[in-house]
Amino acid sequence: MPGLALPPVFVDRMRAFLGPEEFAAYQAALAQGPQVGVRVNTLKIAVDAFRARAPFALAPVPWCPSGFRVTDRARPGKHPYHAAGLYYVQDPSAMAPAEVLAPRPGEWVLDVAAAPGGKTTHLAALMQGQGLLVANDVQPKRVHEMTNNLDRWGATHIVVTQETPARLARRWAGLFDRVLLDAPCSGEGMFRKDPAARRIWSPRHIQRCARLQRTLLRDAARLVRPGGWLVYSTCTFAPEENEGVLAHFLARHPEFTVEPIPSRPGFDRGRPEWLHPPGPPSLRHAVRLWPHKVAGEGHFVALLRRAPADAPPPRPPAPRRTLPAEARRLWRAFVETVLGGRPPAPWERLAVFGNRLYAVPPDAPDWQGLKVRRFGWWLGTLKTRRFEPAHALALALSAETVPAERRWNLTADDPRTRAYLHGEPLPHPGPEGWVLVTVDGYPLGWGKRVGGVVKSHAPRWLRRI
Ligand code: SAM
Repeated sequence: MPGLALPPVFVDRMRAFLGPEEFAAYQAALAQGPQVGVRVNTLKIAVDAFRARAPFALAPVPWCPSGFRVTDRARPGKHPYHAAGLYYVQDPSAMAPAEVLAPRPGEWVLDVAAAPGGKTTHLAALMQGQGLLVANDVQPKRVHEMTNNLDRWGATHIVVTQETPARLARRWAGLFDRVLLDAPCSGEGMFRKDPAARRIWSPRHIQRCARLQRTLLRDAARLVRPGGWLVYSTCTFAPEENEGVLAHFLARHPEFTVEPIPSRPGFDRGRPEWLHPPGPPSLRHAVRLWPHKVAGEGHFVALLRRAPADAPPPRPPAPRRTLPAEARRLWRAFVETVLGGRPPAPWERLAVFGNRLYAVPPDAPDWQGLKVRRFGWWLGTLKTRRFEPAHALALALSAETVPAERRWNLTADDPRTRAYLHGEPLPHPGPEGWVLVTVDGYPLGWGKRVGGVVKSHAPRWLRRI
C-alpha cells in the first residue's frame, strides 16, 4: 500500500474481520495523512468566541461540541493560544470517551490511566471546574508531562496521583460517580500517526495488552459507586482488547451492564461476533470509530453502569487542615500587592504540602499514604520569607481580576509574546514585582519586573513547545 507498511499478519486479521470490500476502504483511509484536531477549553473561552478568533481553519467534530478538525496545514501546538491553554490538540476520535462518560459539575470523577491528560482536560471542562477530578497514571515521566498539560488547562479541581489502580481501589473503593479507563493498548489506531506503533505490533502484544486490560478494568470497576458509570476505551481495533476484555469482565461482574451510547454520524457498533465464542449481544452497544468512517484515527468506547444499591458507601469526611501562620502571611501579602486584595480561592481551602501552597478541591478525599503529585490548584511556592506564584495560578486566573498595573497584555502576533515564552527579559515600565503576562487577554504566565525590565517566569517546558 502506498506510503504505509502494515504488518502482514495485521493485514490478514483485519481483512478477515472487515471483509475484502470494507478492508479496502480502511486501507485507503490509512494512506491519507492523520487528522489533527483541537478541543476548545470552555473553562476559558466559549466555543463561538474561539471560532471567531481561531488562527486556523476549523470543521466541527460531530460527537464533541467543543471539538474541531484543523483543516489547513497549521500547527496548532505552536501557537501562543496553545500556551495560554485555550485548546488541547487531540485526535477527533479521542474526543469520544469523555463525551460518553458525560461527567456533571460537582461529581467525583476518576481518570485511571490519564497521562498525558488529553481526556482529563476534556472531563475537567465538562465538569465546569466543579467537584473533584482525580487524574492517575503509573508512569512518573508521563505524570510529569500531564501535570504541565493540566497546569496549562487551568482547572482548579484536579488531584493528580501516581499509583496503580489496585492501590487506588484499596483506598477509594466505591467512591466515584464516574470512572474512565482509557487503557494502554496495542495502538492500532495510531498506525497512521506513529510508525513505532506499527513496528511493535504483534499478536503476542495484543495478548499481553488484553491481560493487563483485564486487571485494570477489574480494579477501575471497584472504584465506581453503586449506580455510577464506567467508560472503557482504547485506541485499538483488536477485538481481544475491546469486546474480549469486556466479555471477560461481564462474566465476573453481573452488577455491571453495558449501556447504549447515543448514535452520532460515523459511529459503528461493537462486534461481539468477532470473539470465539461470541461475546454477549449487549456488547453491540459499544462504539467503534474507524478511520474510513469518521475523520479521526480510530477508537473503541464502551459505557457500563454499576447497579444501584440501597445504601451506597458513605464518603469519608474531608480531613481538616490548618494553614501555617507564615504561609498565611506570605499569601495575604501576595494577594494584596498583586491580586488587588481579591483572593482567588477561599481561605478554608488553602493547605500547604511540602513548601507548596494549594487550594484543595472542596471535599477532597483522604489521600494519606498515596503518591499525590498535585493536591488541587497549585497557587505557589513558599520560599524563605517570600512567595513565588505558580504557573498554574496564572493560567487559572481570569485576567480582569488582576489590577491593570499588574497586567501586561501582548497580542498573539507581537514578537515579544514568543520572546516571553522563550524566557527572554523584556523592557516594560510599571511597578516593581510580579506581573501577569497575557496574550489577547488570556494569561500566559508570570513575569517579574525589576528596573523597568520584565523577567520571564514562563516554565522551561513551555519553551520546548
Ligand atoms: N487517557 C490518556 C489521554 O487521553 O491523554 C491516554 C492514556 S494512554 C492510552 C494509557 C496510559 O496507561 C499510559 O499513560 C500509561 O502510562 C498508562 N498505564 C500503563 N500501565 C498502567 C497501569 N498498570 N496502571 C495505570 N496506568 C497504566
